[in-house]
Formats: sequence, structure tokens, C-alpha cells
Amino acid sequence: MSQKFSSVRTVSGNSFSQNRGNQRNASQSSNGSNRNKSRSQNSPGSYVPYGSAPRKSASFGGNSRPSFGGAKSSFGRGPKRFRGVKKSVMDQSKFIKKAVPVAEAVEYVAKNKFADFNVCQELKNNIIAKGYETPTPIQDQAIPSALDGRDVIGVAATGTGKTAAFIIPLINKVFMDQNQKVLIITPTRELASQIDIELREFAKGMRIRSVQCIGGARIGRQISELSRNPQFVIGTPGRINDLIKRGRLNLAGTQNIVLDEVDRMLDMGFINDIKLILSKLPDHKQSLFFSATISPRISSLIQSFMASPITVSVKTTVTSDNVEQDIVKVSFDQRKIEVLHEILIKPECEKVLIFGRTKRGVENLSRDLEKRGFKSSSIHGDKAQNKREKALKLFKENHVNILCATDVAARGLDIDDVTHVINYDLPENYEDYVHRIGRTGRANKRGTALTFVS
Ligand code: AMP
Repeated sequence: MSQKFSSVRTVSGNSFSQNRGNQRNASQSSNGSNRNKSRSQNSPGSYVPYGSAPRKSASFGGNSRPSFGGAKSSFGRGPKRFRGVKKSVMDQSKFIKKAVPVAEAVEYVAKNKFADFNVCQELKNNIIAKGYETPTPIQDQAIPSALDGRDVIGVAATGTGKTAAFIIPLINKVFMDQNQKVLIITPTRELASQIDIELREFAKGMRIRSVQCIGGARIGRQISELSRNPQFVIGTPGRINDLIKRGRLNLAGTQNIVLDEVDRMLDMGFINDIKLILSKLPDHKQSLFFSATISPRISSLIQSFMASPITVSVKTTVTSDNVEQDIVKVSFDQRKIEVLHEILIKPECEKVLIFGRTKRGVENLSRDLEKRGFKSSSIHGDKAQNKREKALKLFKENHVNILCATDVAARGLDIDDVTHVINYDLPENYEDYVHRIGRTGRANKRGTALTFVS
């Protein structure tokens, strides 16, 4: 199950139009016969301009690139959606980019093999058991420095193996010195639990314990797990702070800190929590900060938290070369949901993540799609944690092929074979856009990102 990773320019192992197993398009399983009408003419992997469809509908990018002033609708319909919403200043052309053709891609040649890394045999065995053969570029370049005890800033496109880049050196460190403790902080609960799962696989049989300290889950259980003194604490900022304030989490002996999606962790929403948490850690520690995007402002802030960090940056393009990006123009007289419907019935739309701006809008959209016969579920901050987990599981395991989400699902989540990311509502900023579309085109597969603009 090893995957071939390439560097800056990537070689795609999978053709976009390739059949992806048993996933069924909602239209295939639904009762609406009209849904199949437009499918037969369209070859998989290629979009026909919507102008050619029987009804008046949206067109994808192409030649027309009007000045960008798309309203941030919250799933509004028609002109109403322009009421009282701020106009975006993002340039529409930023949402259009061809994927790099396979012929132009240059394969990355790793300097190291996993066998060469100075880690214990138990960990090497677990790496082999996970099917990893060759380090990805970020792993190849970050792991040796992290093993040397350096502070590392890792910048790499999402889906390129960042988790293992910090987990492998830290597991080794903890295994070699049982006094070591690690705190890993992520912006979302789902990302924390994804990292915990990966950690447990890499640390199998190594007597390493971890606890997830995330909001929305029972704090009592987390407190009792913390009392068993786990080496790894993985969590979200709010809950970690809560546990510190209750005197249940003492970070004085935690000499290792990971900030995943560090740019998000240090922006307005989290910065105070993070500063407070960092102030509880000892002065002498190892810091590993990772993200797909690091703005100049965040970069200088990061430096103030670290000791002569080494920066490992393994990308030249902001977005993955594997993702074909385009816009979907929706005119005043069109209903967005109808335009979306037309896209979703296309055979190549096998597994689709749809981003919306508001929790309510996302919930309503998912319901509307279900009424139309699509198999959809939703994930957003108003949902109880167990329901969020269930929705994600349904999507991950292909019981539904559409997931409607707010930006809680934008970062770091590793979901196999997402063929399309659709920005039904515009993201707040370009960085959020980059993270959203990073859910597709992962692990060298081809993906498509479509952004609704008006
Ligand atoms: P991440 O960026 O950590 O979310 O990883 C993206 C995906 O790539 C996950 O499914 C990993 O299991 C997989 N992966 C990471 N590193 C490797 C590797 N060296 N070889 C094969 N697969 C990998």
C-alpha cells in the first residue's frame, strides 16, 4: 500500500478518470431518472461547458474571467444572497489552474530510506508494517533534523506525509527516554484524532500511551486517562487549556511540542490559547511546527517561539499540482443548488467534499441534497462530536459520497480518494482556499477543485 510521492512537481499514479472501486455516484443510486440524462454525453474527467446543457446553467472558467466580486453567500438563492454581505477581494483567477500533466512532472529522489534513519528497530518494523517504503520529501528532509533534536518548521503541501515527519522522530525519542513527553496541538478535533490513530499504528507494541484531549468529548474520561501519565497528549487548544486550568494537565515536564497547521494555530482565533499553553512548557524543549501555508506575519511570530529553527520547505507551488482548479459561474437567474446538482450527477464526481460558510447553510444544503436523492452527510461546529465523527466515518468509508462541511473539515484531514472539492461558498481568504482544496489530489492522486463565483 505504499504510494509513490514526488517532489515539487508530481507524478500522478492514478488517472483522474480511473474508476475508483465501488464508490457509487448518488445519481446512480437515486431514483431521479432525469439525473442520468446529462451523464451519457460527458466523458469522465472532462467538463463540458454548461452552456451546452439544455437549460441555462453555469459555465466553468474558460475565457471569461470577470472582475471578482463574488458575494459571500450563505447558500442564498438568486439576488437575495447579495444582501448585507461583504464583497470578497480575492482574485477569481486564483481559483483557476490546470493540474500538471504527468509528462512534465519530475519525480523526487529521496536521499534517505526509512532503514537509514537512526531510529529503533521496533519503530522501523512498524513503518514497514504500515507499508511505507520511501520517505516523502518532507519526511526525507525533516526527520533527520528532528532526530538531531533541532527545532523544525516544516512547510509542505497537505497530504504529503507531514504527520509521519513529526511522529516518527518523536516516537523514537519517547521510546529511548521514558521521561520524554509530547504535546501535539491541532486546530480541529478530527485532525487530533487522525493523528492519534496514526501515532498508535507507528507505536504499536512499544508501550507508548496517548490521550486525545479534544472539545465535545467527555472531559472526565480525558482526566482519568491523563492520570495514567501518557507520553503523548494530542488535542485542541480550548480543551487543553481547560485541563490546565483545572489542574489536570501539568506541562512542566513536556519537553516536546508540535503545532500542526501552525499558521491556523497562531492566527486570531487561537493565538491567546496557544501563548498560554506555550508559557506552561519548559524553556528547554524541542518544537516542531508544520503547515501547508505560512504567511510572513506568522513566520516572524513562529521564530519568537523557537530556538534557531531549521526550515524545511518542500514545495514551490502553493496548491498541489495534482489538483485541477476551476470556477463555476452562477448567474443571477440561476439557483446555486441546481447548478450544484448538475455537477454532482457527473460520473466523475465520485467522492465530493462541499464547503460552505455557515453551519446552518451546510446543514440545510446536505438535507436538500438528500431530498434530491444524493447520499450526503454534514460536518460543522454545531453538531455534537459523536455526530461529527459519524458523518466523517460515513464519508471516509464511502457509505455517503458527499460531505457538506464548514472549514472545520478544511485542514489536515486525510480522506482517501476525494475526487472533488467544491467551494459552494467562497472561503474567507486564500489560505483557507488552499487548505480546502488540499483535501483532494492527495497522495499523488488527481483531484478537481471547483469554486462557485457569481
Ligand atoms: P499526511 O500528509 O500525513 O496526512 O499523509 C497523507 C497520506 O499519505 C496518508 O494516508 C499517509 O498514510 C500517506 N503517507 C505518508 N507518508 C507516506 C510514505 N512515506 N509512504 C507511503 N504513504 C505515505
